[in-house]
Amino acid sequence: MQVTHWHSPYFFAYFPTANSYPAMLADMLCGAIGCIGFSWASSPACTELETVMLDWLGKMIGLPEQFLAGSKGEGGGVIQGTASEATLMALLAARTKVAKRLQAENPKLSEAEIVSRMVAYSSDQAHSSVERAGLISGVRMKKIQSDENFVARGEALKRALEADKAEGLLPVFVCATLGTTSSCSFDNLMELGPICNAENIWLHVDAAYAGSAFICPEFRYLMKGVEFADSFNFNPHKWLLVNFDCSAFWVKKRSDLIGAFKLDPVYLQYDQQASGLVTDYRHWQIPLGRRFRSLKLWFVLRMYGVKGLQDYIRKHIQLAQEFLAFVKKDERFEVCAPVILGLVCFRLKGSNTLNKSLLQKINKDKKIHLVPCCLGEKFILRFAVCARTVQSNHIAFAWKHIEELATELMMAEGEKK
Ligand SMILES: *Cc1c(COP(=O)(O)O)cnc(C)c1O
Repeated sequence: MQVTHWHSPYFFAYFPTANSYPAMLADMLCGAIGCIGFSWASSPACTELETVMLDWLGKMIGLPEQFLAGSKGEGGGVIQGTASEATLMALLAARTKVAKRLQAENPKLSEAEIVSRMVAYSSDQAHSSVERAGLISGVRMKKIQSDENFVARGEALKRALEADKAEGLLPVFVCATLGTTSSCSFDNLMELGPICNAENIWLHVDAAYAGSAFICPEFRYLMKGVEFADSFNFNPHKWLLVNFDCSAFWVKKRSDLIGAFKLDPVYLQYDQQASGLVTDYRHWQIPLGRRFRSLKLWFVLRMYGVKGLQDYIRKHIQLAQEFLAFVKKDERFEVCAPVILGLVCFRLKGSNTLNKSLLQKINKDKKIHLVPCCLGEKFILRFAVCARTVQSNHIAFAWKHIEELATELMMAEGEKK
């Protein structure tokens, strides 16, 4: 058996997963308290701290007021286990909302008939969890083609909507991605948003990785148009030093979530008058039981502070720039997508086979770890800045190692010919 060292400073695969001492301590405390906070009454602090932390976090990333519980509006945030669950919740809520509306207009329609006509969209760069949300919910999920920079654009969505509506389909949901998994591209919310709003289509934003960067004001231009969204999600468990699992999910109208799946058996009821607060997070998620996850968020935010977390994000982005500079200096390599945050997509100029061999060599050697992606027809190596402890010297080491293996590989190829 082997353990993959996700927190080695030589780990550059996938996207980061967070790890910090305050988060670990909070997780121990969560285990010690051992409450199950499905309703306010089942552990008031578990519910209340979560509501407050999600408002703190929402303010930290500059999320529009309407998403915050403290705004006196209709919004609010909840901690889900993963981005996958957040997308699924958003899609299920959209599905139920539309089905209820159409059944109110025409009571003869069955839910099955309505759902069978529904269609949801994401870009061809969306995470596989979006496609799975479609499979789980029974709503067909279509991919719209992204542009040459791997960005989902308004025109492509419009074309898909026109074609599908002409065929009698019912568009209900769009999932836009900020920071795609393959290349960290950003869908164009300024184009997608108004279309969704005009067509009454639920817009969900999946910013699983990139969302953490929005705590730095200089990166908020990347979330321009988020005000058009109905729901927004990112993973503090990826890049904000909160250990797995902690996925922050906000909705503009909490009644859309709560109303969708509310059941109230007698054994879960309590005197709501006594609470003065009516948040029961069991209505916001798929399971009933839930852990005291907001403790992790609270400990991390208090220990690092906004400034400490901003420094952390900026440092990772700086390290990605250092790696980018190395790649650019070696003419045998090419950069394959804009480097905006902590991910560099690169490859040897040459065939996919050559690049597959290089990656195989890198991972067989086990000094560093990378994973690939495909962009269009091209096989690409992804270099993600991951560990909390990674420094410039690790980046320099990684690049030197990659260059040496590339030289070895090309010499071997030359000999074959
Ligand atoms: C990592 C990632 C996910 C999946 O996150 P989970 O929390 O593991 O479900 C979804 N979307 C994007 C864009 C991601 O990068």
